[in-house]
Amino acid sequence: MYDYDLLVVGSANADLVIGVERRPAAGETVLGSDLVVHPGGKGANQSVAAARLGARTALLARVGDDAHGRLLLDSQRAAGVDTAGVLVGGAPTGVALITVDPSGDNSIVVSPGANGRLTPEDVRADADLVRASRVVSAQLEIPLETVVETVRILAPGSRFVLNPSPPRPLPAEVLAACDPLIVNEHEARVVLGDGAGPEPEDWATALLALGPRSVVVTLGARGALVADADGAARVPSVRVETVDTTGAGDSFTAALAWRLGLGEPLSVAAAYAARVGAVAVTRPGAQESFPTAEEVESL
Ligand code: ADP
Repeated sequence: MYDYDLLVVGSANADLVIGVERRPAAGETVLGSDLVVHPGGKGANQSVAAARLGARTALLARVGDDAHGRLLLDSQRAAGVDTAGVLVGGAPTGVALITVDPSGDNSIVVSPGANGRLTPEDVRADADLVRASRVVSAQLEIPLETVVETVRILAPGSRFVLNPSPPRPLPAEVLAACDPLIVNEHEARVVLGDGAGPEPEDWATALLALGPRSVVVTLGARGALVADADGAARVPSVRVETVDTTGAGDSFTAALAWRLGLGEPLSVAAAYAARVGAVAVTRPGAQESFPTAEEVESL
């Protein structure tokens, strides 16, 4: 028996957002809107998304001993995430400084802060939490060594899901553990390097050849593509009025990881995840846009 349906090992950031008429050039100062602070980071987004759907969810992350860290812990707990694995201190909470102009184009500076201090030793110290989880999900906003260590201490029967974002080439040991590796087009191209062909089917084939047991390519409003040893299949998207795509990939990944843990086949779990992502894009923001299971059913 597992205590958790999903453990997310990943990042937690405060997103500091200011609207501007024009993003500043070098040496320039511009005035902007009132500051808005949102809880974010791919790890924290995924755990909130899963818990809101009803998954028994825990987060293994590191935040600073500061107001941003408390904001992140509060948003996790409000969603029902177990935060016993969230370490506090060592560096300021990770921050994304975001300026957005009226056309929606943004400029972002990320300070990883405490995320960069989530070490392999931290994961080893919480090995019981990792082994108590049916599915473990990671991204790359924490040190790659920490993801490698996570893979090494997984329980034999549990499942590992990776969204390699921000993308970089991956060690064979991590690739071999992924079931699935979940990428969007940009991430697929970086992981594959020069090997990427023209179509998503080409990327899926080339990614599978790198070692993961399964691959999911997310294609925004075009849905997704799933592939494993049995072949590849398209997963249609749900047609919705798009308001804000922030967090769509995180909610898709969390939902997919949870449903795979329940025993659903990859294409069935991905179809459910596509509905979750579709609801998320109809609302502004990231965590605040993630649906409950009832909202997914009524889509
Ligand atoms: P990322 O945010 O990582 O780039 P995507 O934009 O591909 O990820 O979104 C993840 C999933 O969310 C997609 O595979 C799709 O199922 C769903 N989704 C994203 N954007 C839309 C949209 N505009 N309409 C409907 N579904 C969407």
